[in-house]
Order: sequence, then structure tokens, then C-alpha cells
Amino acid sequence: MIKNLVVLGSGSAGLIAALSFRRKLPQIQVSVVRDPSIGVIGVGEGTTPNFPRHLFDYLGIPRKTFYELAEPTWKLGIRFNWGAREHFNYTFAPQLDARLAQLPLPNGFYCDEVFDNLDLSSALMNQGKVFPAQANGCPDIQPWHAFHIENEKFVAVLEKIAVASGVEFIDGRVDDCRRNDNGLKAILLEDGRLIEGDYFIDCSGFRSELLGKALQEPFLDFKKTLFCDRAVVGGWERTEEPILPYTTSEQMSTGWCWQIEHERLINRGYVYCSDMISDEEAANEFRAKNPKVPDDPRIVKFRSGCYQRMWVDNVVAIGNAGGFVEPLEATALMIVCSHVQTLINFIQHSQLAPSPSMRDLYNRVTHETWLDIRDFLGLHYKPDTAMKTPFWDRCREETDLSGIEELLEFYRENGPTGFCRYSLQSTQNDFGLEGYLVMLLGHRVPHQKPYQPTDEECKIWRAHLEANKRKAQGGLTVEEALAYVRDPRWQWHDNPQG
Ligand SMILES: Cc1cc2nc3c(=O)[nH]c(=O)nc-3n(C[C@H](O)[C@H](O)[C@H](O)COP(=O)(O)OP(=O)(O)OC[C@H]3O[C@@H](n4cnc5c(N)ncnc54)[C@H](O)[C@@H]3O)c2cc1C
Repeated sequence: MIKNLVVLGSGSAGLIAALSFRRKLPQIQVSVVRDPSIGVIGVGEGTTPNFPRHLFDYLGIPRKTFYELAEPTWKLGIRFNWGAREHFNYTFAPQLDARLAQLPLPNGFYCDEVFDNLDLSSALMNQGKVFPAQANGCPDIQPWHAFHIENEKFVAVLEKIAVASGVEFIDGRVDDCRRNDNGLKAILLEDGRLIEGDYFIDCSGFRSELLGKALQEPFLDFKKTLFCDRAVVGGWERTEEPILPYTTSEQMSTGWCWQIEHERLINRGYVYCSDMISDEEAANEFRAKNPKVPDDPRIVKFRSGCYQRMWVDNVVAIGNAGGFVEPLEATALMIVCSHVQTLINFIQHSQLAPSPSMRDLYNRVTHETWLDIRDFLGLHYKPDTAMKTPFWDRCREETDLSGIEELLEFYRENGPTGFCRYSLQSTQNDFGLEGYLVMLLGHRVPHQKPYQPTDEECKIWRAHLEANKRKAQGGLTVEEALAYVRDPRWQWHDNPQG
């Protein structure tokens, strides 16, 4: 019976886990152990729509509090300056896994040439606008948004809410563990204190102190699919640049570069493959592209992959302690929120005493999420035909996409039909078929069913794109929408039940 939960780590993963347990299982005592001298990772700033849902709907954090303290900006999707097209937008609303009522085939069959303004989000992104305007001029805040958020600010906000929710914080460095027949009995701090618990969540970041180090769970490397293993990170104070309502991802000689938009800061990072470019060369290429980046950008090393099992005995890992992939789709916080919800669900259904079969099922479900994301990210690389560098040649030749071979084959034969979903092994991620179709069409991957619409169909299709564009043109910029939600007369409609 779980009565006393110890969370190791107070980065975003540890705090989201601790707060979620307090909120949903208040009968369990929650302590967070962390070492302020190690600190939090300090990167991780793009999110997906399950993140606001987790904060506001699941945890019941009032929007007003969150907006005031965390100062997020909105993200409608990712603009890929990437591949055979000049750019394409991956939005959080269905662009391709959808069909107009007046047309016979799904949208994907109509965008061989023009893959733009397919939905309102994409049109808003193209116009540099974040939300359409209501009749009274106020932003019509749509559910299909995520946030850009500064990691350290976010952690500070969560910590404040966690303290108010009764989470106990213990400062100290974990040095060792004590075990019993159920797994871990206690963690031992450097100063000799023993912190006992009957269930442990390892959120110690890349150090994976409990799952990786203490329990020695084997790590599954994704290096056959994802070749990048470092990032050079830097940013600058915003001056005249407008706040864009999306993350930008663009190809570089040996990887790709993100741009994330905060209100006062622009955050940039170049994710690269250290086998094929030195840190110094990567930093030089990064600075040449971003002259405003300071002279000493930070280098962050990582390995893409996950532990074989996330839950071993009475220890479960969440966040970077359990697995990590490069931030190409900002998946880390998405997985944190989704796995925390799954875990709490499993523990609730087990009446706080989870059985081995419940644990095995959790491991199967979470493992599938990681494999799905590995393959989805791999699909950003392999179909590229634009970049002619040794790194991109290698991506085309060597990226292992055997996990989605059935989908790729079905797409080749049948094009962007919604039936492609039946060739996916699992649907354990938030991207779904939409994500795969955006990558396949964004890269203009050829298929054997090109469609020639009639003149009438072309007219309907063009009118649809034009209507999205016109509505977007009348929308609000991020700056304008922020001014509205900060006005004392603005009212959020929260669900206080969480
Ligand atoms: C280059 C890069 C870019 C990223 N971009 C994104 C993004 O855009 N979107 C996204 O969702 N994610 C992104 N991430 C991932 C993101 O950083 C993490 O999802 C998120 O911040 C969670 O981190 P964490 O809580 O697991 O670990 P951390 O923030 O590293 O926290 C670890 C915690 O463990 C504690 N700790 C560790 N060892 C000990 C010990 N021995 N004793 C006591 N305490 C200990 C530390 O004190 C700290 O509190 C990015 C990551 C990298 C590397």
C-alpha cells in the first residue's frame, strides 16, 4: 500500500509528478528531495497542447495565477524551414487527417503543390497572428495551443504551488540507497540522513540516480534512428523582433536549429551530431546564423533513448531520468504529463497497491510511447531531399525507420488517406496519424495515388484556403493578445475541480 511517496528531483518532471499526486491522491504523503547545487537542466521550453490541459484541467491551476507568474507565450505549432518545400507548418489542429464536407478525399490529396493555410492555425502562423478576433476585438483563445515557457521560471512557479499544496521539500544530495524485498526502502543523503518511502519516483534528470544507477536498468539507445547527441544553446534579449506564435525549426549542416519565443528573450539552439562536427565548428555555424548569440554559448550533451522499463520494483522514472529524445517536437514535457496521468490512473485502479501485472502493463504502454516518438522523429530526417551535406546523406541512407515500415509502404501505395492509421503499430502518442502525414507531405514523399481534382473541387479548395487566410489576417498578434489577458477586466473560465 503506497502511503509515503518520495520524489527525487525538483525539475519540471519532479514537480509535475509531486503536484499531480497531491492533487489526485491526497491520501499519499509526498516529499521531494533535491540538490540545489545540481540545479535543474535550464532548457526545455516548447510544449504541446497536453501541457496546458495538464496544468489547468488536470491540476486545476488557475490560469490567472499561471499567466501572471510563468509569463508564457503561445505556441500554435512548429514552422519547419526544412526539406523540399520552402517551409511547412505542423499545427496542433488536424490539417491533413481531415476532409472538407464538399470534397470526396481527405485534405492531403489537395496539397501536392501548396501546403499552406490548410487550417486556421497554419494561416495564423503565416500571418504572425496567434488567435482570431472575436466580434468585440478580444482574442478568441482556441484550445489548439501550447506554450513557450522558460524552464527556470516554470520550475519556480510549480515549486510555489507545490509548497502551498503540502509537498515537503528536503534539500540534500542522494549518495546511496537502502533496499528491502520490495525494492528501495530509503535513499541516503550525503549528510547521513535517511529518507524512507514506500514508493519512489526518480526525476533526477540525466543522472537517473535510482532507475539507472541504483537499479541498473539497461538503457535502450536510439542511435540507429537519431544521430544527434549535443546541442549548443544561446539566446538574446528581444529588441524589435515580433513575438512569433510558433517554434521555428530549421535545417543546419549537421542537424537542426530551434527558435523559441519568450516575451523578452529569443532562445536558440543547434542540435547536432558530435560524430560529424566538433563543438567548436557547431558553435561557429550557430553564431554565424545567429549573430546576436553571446560568444560563449552553452553545450549540452545528451543521449537519445530510454530505459527498458520505466517502473522497476517500487521505483518509477519520469522525465529525463527515464528517457530523452532531442527536442525536435518538444516531446519531453508532453511525455511527463501523459506518463504521470497514466501512472496515477494505474495506482488509483490498484487501490494504492499495484500488482506486478499492473506494473508490467505500465511498462509496456510507456515503452511504446518512446518507440513511437523515436520513429516519428526519425521521419523528420530520412525523407529529406534538400540538404546536401555528409550528415544529411547519412540520414537518408542510414536512419532506421523499420518501426513504421508498414505505414510507409501503405502510404507509398495509397497516398495520404486516413486508412493509413491502421498500418500504425500503436497510437500511444499525441501526434497520431496527423503528425506522420504532415512529415510525409511536408517532405513531398512520393506516392502512387496522386489525385487530379476537378475544376469545381479546385475552386472549393482554394476558397477554403482563402477563407482561412482572411480570418487570420484579422487576428491578434501575441503582443496584442497578451495585453488583453493582462487587463484587469479579463476573465478566465477555469474548471476549479481540476
Ligand atoms: C537541449 C535541450 C532542449 C530541450 N528542449 C525541450 C523542449 O523544448 N520541450 C520540452 O518539453 N523539453 C525539452 N527538453 C527536456 C527538458 O529539459 C525536460 O523535459 C524537463 O525540463 C524535465 O527535466 P527533469 O525534471 O527530468 O530534469 P532536471 O531539470 O535536470 O532536474 C533534475 C532534478 O534532480 C535533482 N537531482 C539530480 N541528482 C540528484 C542527487 N544525486 N541528489 C539530489 N537531487 C538530485 C536536481 O537537483 C534537479 O532538481 C530539452 C532538453 C535539452 C537537453
